[in-house]
Amino acid sequence: MPHEDPDARVGAGRHRLLTLLECAGPLTRSELTERMGLPGTTVAGMVSELLRARLVVERETPARGVGRPPRVLEPAGPAPVVSLLARRDGRLRVAVATLSGGLIAERSRPVDDGKALDAPLLAEAARLLRSALGEAGISPPRLVAVVVSVARPRPHDVDLSALGERLEKPVVPENDANLGALGEAEFGAGRGLDSFVYVMLGHSVGAGLVVGGRLHRGASGFAGELGHVQVQEQEDGSLCVCGGRGCLGRHIGTSLHDFVHRAYAARLSVPEVLSLAARREPGVRRVFADLGRMVGKPLAGLCTMLDPAAVVVDGSLGAAGEPVMAGIREELDRHAAPAVADSVRVVAGELGERAELLGAVALVRRWTLDATLPASRRDPAVAAASALAAAR
Ligand SMILES: [Zn+2]
Repeated sequence: MPHEDPDARVGAGRHRLLTLLECAGPLTRSELTERMGLPGTTVAGMVSELLRARLVVERETPARGVGRPPRVLEPAGPAPVVSLLARRDGRLRVAVATLSGGLIAERSRPVDDGKALDAPLLAEAARLLRSALGEAGISPPRLVAVVVSVARPRPHDVDLSALGERLEKPVVPENDANLGALGEAEFGAGRGLDSFVYVMLGHSVGAGLVVGGRLHRGASGFAGELGHVQVQEQEDGSLCVCGGRGCLGRHIGTSLHDFVHRAYAARLSVPEVLSLAARREPGVRRVFADLGRMVGKPLAGLCTMLDPAAVVVDGSLGAAGEPVMAGIREELDRHAAPAVADSVRVVAGELGERAELLGAVALVRRWTLDATLPASRRDPAVAAASALAAAR
């Protein structure tokens, strides 16, 4: 019997209610109740909470014919926005999206990949973000929070105080694969799935675990670190940045770029690699199938232990996703417990390059909604992130 967490159900319900209003509003209370498919009193309770949190407003519509004009609910004010900051392929990138997941602005500028995320770089990030907001005509109060995508297993170890002070906004670091998982859970291939494993391979090697409808971070925040699963058993396996030996990430490299590079004399860019895969170039496809098998073996063990509904593979791989998924499937069929191998699906992420941005939206949305709950009912992970942001 799956364990049902009533808090998760309420949280997910309000989430859905707000999303419904953002996507299909304005709606009357009865239209909303019908669309939610829940008892009227439950929906009324959720509406009250959202009204109190000022996330939703209720207004009268112009009278039509006789009788009282209907009142409708809609999201409050101009759409609040969330920003994602990431460092990728030698560029510092900012993206801005509404809480309903609509992309508003994207900007980037070159940055030295080896440069630490220090105060000068964070000052540059703040300037880039301000110019992106200005260009899109978004006033600073509409920005709810900034999420910074980091590859570190314990993102909260990253000091982002310089950015928070400059922007006077909560700045939340989150692991890149966790963001991808949150994005797919809320907007993509993971919608409606109680549990799944998201596998990030495009820019770094990692996984995000969704268990019981929630992101599972683990006791020390290390959950899902696929790149640090030991695959080389010798005592002298190459040492990894995590302090372990023989980690999967050491075999693959830090990105698919590094992995594919081995098969080619020239240093290919990510778009070049993906276009070779799209043209079904046999060499590239074989390399990607190998990559799938390499991550597939540890995933088989994880699937046996976790019994997820699906393995959702990084949608940013584009045409390269197909041989990767075939490689993963092969290893799941070979090494996972047969009952699990039979039931787990291997599917492509639906959000492509946008998975992390939409994950940032999902994180902040959840966090905003959670702040309306009594402390005892908040998601501990989200409450910790809010407390951390408030302390800065
Ligand atoms: Zn490691």
